[in-house]
Amino acid sequence: MTLTTVPQHLETEAEIISRLEDSPVLLDVRGLCVDYVTEAGNIRACDDVDLTLRRGEILGVAGESASGKSTLLNALGRLQRMPAATSAGEIRFHPTDGTEPVDLVGLTEDELAAYRWTKISVVMQSAMASLNPVIRLGEQFTDVIRTHNPRIRQAEARAQAAELLTMVGISADRLTAFPFQLSGGMQQRALIALSLACDPDLVLMDEPTTAVDVVMQRQILDQVLAAQERLGFAVVFVTHDLSLLLEISDRIAIMYGGKVVEVGTAARLHSTAKHPYTRALRNAFPPLSEPVRRLSGIPGSPPDLLDLPPGCSFAPRCAAAMPICHQRVPELRDIDQGRSACFLTNGELSEQELAVQQHPPLNGGHDEEGEAL
Ligand code: ATP
Ligand code: SF4
Repeated sequence: MTLTTVPQHLETEAEIISRLEDSPVLLDVRGLCVDYVTEAGNIRACDDVDLTLRRGEILGVAGESASGKSTLLNALGRLQRMPAATSAGEIRFHPTDGTEPVDLVGLTEDELAAYRWTKISVVMQSAMASLNPVIRLGEQFTDVIRTHNPRIRQAEARAQAAELLTMVGISADRLTAFPFQLSGGMQQRALIALSLACDPDLVLMDEPTTAVDVVMQRQILDQVLAAQERLGFAVVFVTHDLSLLLEISDRIAIMYGGKVVEVGTAARLHSTAKHPYTRALRNAFPPLSEPVRRLSGIPGSPPDLLDLPPGCSFAPRCAAAMPICHQRVPELRDIDQGRSACFLTNGELSEQELAVQQHPPLNGGHDEEGEAL
């Protein structure tokens, strides 16, 4: 038996870029900041995030625990609750009907209701926390479908529900079941089917397969990809498991310490990730399709967002750290077809400056009279 039923990303970087460029922008995120206001202080869990998502794109977001992935996902769906608040930036949603883009950050709860389910839907990690345990599945589907499209008759809504369940590999006769009567994997698949009930343009998925075993994880991913290919929705998929994202994503954003530190196509990040953190993450989560080898963990722990180190927040754990890394925060800059926030590759330092940083003079960069060079 092989566990890798999801195909390895076969497209080249050029093919992925060309496909995405042919597709209109769906979501344009600029300067997004999210803070948790706590008694201990202000925690910026999402710091100046810029992202672009095209229609039909699968964007993976990876990073260790506490990197800010869920905070970002919740902010994109305007799902965050106190003490979290979006403190800056915009999330411009470009409707597929060609009407003017809308900044989701500026919408009231009532205005957001027009976007939920029909344009943006969400799949969280725990299906039982999202499904209503005391309402039969069929009723949960028809409620959602008919609330957002009252013209659809009950029987038609029921038929749509049956089709969605079948699409994720669940027999339509389970529509009469209560969620607790389904296995964990089935509950998760039912939740994914429910998220598609109103044909959304974007599905936000937060670790949707973490709670199931690895065989079930593969089945669910296969079904998500098949549904995505058929219905054409875009996905933002959050997980700590970079190897999984390398297999299913078009592009991947890597988060660390609340910031996006690298963005690139799955093809590029698979072969030539630029950022030392991405490379470390990749070594910690090698693809299942690769030959078995010793895993190398990332030394140290993710930073405390209340007490970030000066400079690059990865510097205390980075084997390539240079003196400047402990002083200045590297900018997230365009490189080739992606973006990177690392002095080694983002072009912020000239070749000469980089050489000095990598091989600092033995006298600490001062001349014989003690003047800085
Ligand atoms: P995980 O994979 O563990 O879910 P993550 O990358 O999704 O991690 P977030 O859940 O976004 O990270 O949390 C990032 C940081 O935001 C946390 O480490 C914590 O400092 C802060 N944070 C998250 N939720 C809260 C909260 N409810 N109150 C205060 N701070 C919070
Ligand atoms: Fe490492 Fe410096 Fe790059 Fe940060 S900026 S990842 S510390 S080399």
